[in-house]
Amino acid sequence: MRNILCSLLLTVIVLSLAVAQGRGQSAPEPALPYTPSLDVKSMDKSIDPCVNFYQYSCGGWKKENPLPPDETSWSVYGKLFEDNLNFLRGVLEQAAAGGGQRDKVTQEIGDFYAACMDEATVEQRALAPIQSDLDAIAGLHSSREITSLIARLQFAYGRSILFAHETIQDPDDSEQQIADLDQGGLGLPDRDYYFKEDAKSKEIRERYVQHVQKVLELMGESPETAGKEAATVMRMETALAKASLTQVDRRDPYKLKHKMQVADLTRLAPNLDWPGYFGDLQYPPFATLNVMAPAFFKEVNRLLAREPVENWKTYLRYHVADSFSPYLSPKFVDENFDFHVRYLRGANEIEPRWKRCVQYTDANLGEALGQVYVSKVFSPELKQSTLDMVRRIEDAMGQRIRQLDWMSPETKQQALTKLAAIRNKIGYPDKWRDYSSVTITRNDFGGDTLRAGEFEGRRQINKVGKPVDHAEWDMTPPTVDADYDPQMNDINFPAGVLQPPLYDAKLDDAPNYGDTGGTIGHELTHAFDDEGSQFDAKGNLKNWWTPQDRKRFDARTQCVQNQYAQYVAVEDIHLNGKLTLGENVADLGGEILAYMAWKDAAKDKDLQPIDGLTPEQRFFIGFAQWDCSNERPEEERMRATTDPHSPAKYRINGVVVNMPEFSQAFSCKAGQPMVNPPEKVCKVW
Ligand SMILES: [Zn+2]
Repeated sequence: MRNILCSLLLTVIVLSLAVAQGRGQSAPEPALPYTPSLDVKSMDKSIDPCVNFYQYSCGGWKKENPLPPDETSWSVYGKLFEDNLNFLRGVLEQAAAGGGQRDKVTQEIGDFYAACMDEATVEQRALAPIQSDLDAIAGLHSSREITSLIARLQFAYGRSILFAHETIQDPDDSEQQIADLDQGGLGLPDRDYYFKEDAKSKEIRERYVQHVQKVLELMGESPETAGKEAATVMRMETALAKASLTQVDRRDPYKLKHKMQVADLTRLAPNLDWPGYFGDLQYPPFATLNVMAPAFFKEVNRLLAREPVENWKTYLRYHVADSFSPYLSPKFVDENFDFHVRYLRGANEIEPRWKRCVQYTDANLGEALGQVYVSKVFSPELKQSTLDMVRRIEDAMGQRIRQLDWMSPETKQQALTKLAAIRNKIGYPDKWRDYSSVTITRNDFGGDTLRAGEFEGRRQINKVGKPVDHAEWDMTPPTVDADYDPQMNDINFPAGVLQPPLYDAKLDDAPNYGDTGGTIGHELTHAFDDEGSQFDAKGNLKNWWTPQDRKRFDARTQCVQNQYAQYVAVEDIHLNGKLTLGENVADLGGEILAYMAWKDAAKDKDLQPIDGLTPEQRFFIGFAQWDCSNERPEEERMRATTDPHSPAKYRINGVVVNMPEFSQAFSCKAGQPMVNPPEKVCKVW
């Protein structure tokens, strides 16, 4: 299930537009720039590591790397992401240069990128790419006709228009794929935005209504009409938000599992023509589907009866335009940036167009772009050395499970079976996705995007009723992120995340194990966090714990939940200990495993200090430097509500306080902030 994937980061693609300026004019890189995985210049040695280890390891970096104006946060990951974009830009400009010699893949990515960069044509085509859909909305006569319209719009725009449809692994039989329906249809980032009563939240809602009005005006409404319509959109969305599950609820896979037949769905929400919906979308025949949020669909049903058809036209017109704004003319792009990125997340400047076009190419044709990328940056030797590290960390996990003093032999056996079944996806897929059926032209960016979206939509729908393809990749090879998927029971490390400074083949093992080793351990631990531990070796939602072991496990995760709930994200907003629990458990478990694996890999080596730092100190500094970062307060506020990951400083300091190996490495003394007395140390895995 995509919504319960546990990724290392919240990978953010900032969508919006304007003229290329500032950093945008820098020339594309011929090669990825090199930064070491441990950089003493990034440290601030005036800080006592036993008082604030994150600041000690990252203080220099924070000072030297202020937030760029077009970013909402900036970090070591963000910088690699940026270097990677610059490198991909070079690849794409070469591909776009044309010429009869281009192979199919080069032509696909080159023409898509060229069409995106041709802003004059995008402007001249105005609303043309979406006009037929706007006409279909305008032609709606009764809410009975709304089903097939929604099917059509969801298919074209690939996001949740009113609600979301997707294909998931059956939670009870992970080898089979089934249809799934989920909540959606909101314009603000989360349902909580509609109800919080603090002054800032009220202001956000007022600004949102202004944004809706502005988008409707851009489509030709008078300010007066658009103002009334914006209030209608807000009222309808608030009703949908009220019936939506919270982020915390969504971490409980049982709250998302409601399997039913189409006839049950018709009883649940009879105002939608469900057989017609699945027929319009040409679903393969199926017996059961899953509905993640039944209460939400009851509310949709109620709204369909209550709201006149004119209101639905307004709601749909706004959502189509707002979701497609990044691909339209500059006035739409600017308004989209202004609200969704500048106001909600704090960026001052829009990303230059080339940067957005690189990201759109990756998002739409990622495995075509990935083929070229991998041939340039991911050698067979690199694949071998990272696979070796993965195996060592899996061995450490096995050892750790066998040593646990709180788990019974029966549960240990199950855990070891699950560990042995984990698949490792490293670098890139063995078989590449073929986009040759997608028509890509050099002069119709909006159309190219819609056609690529339909290709993906069709690919997803066609999976229903078929067995799972374990060779398929969910992330594109250039992605600078990693994840664990509990239903696939696999860990995913694309080539983009195995580059310096995260994985640095030139440096000693210590910082590499602290950094990428910790990330591999993090993803492995997700298989056994509060959420992943509910899935068995095959990826089925099935309990494999004895009741006693589960109780002991829950008591241990409660320790982590309480620890992080004390931390303050921004102003008076505390972290949500429950929302961030899985990530915090994975951060701690990951680093413990990486330390064990590193000690094992180094056992016959005579390690010496480098730059005045012992090997153990280098391990921990390598760890901390994976996440050196600066964030805007707006971004910190949003993430405290929506992001299951804790802020960087707690992802580092919150882990090392629970590792006695850390206080030994830096000779910290009892009573110092980074030293937990033994009775307060949280230990899960
Ligand atoms: Zn994670």
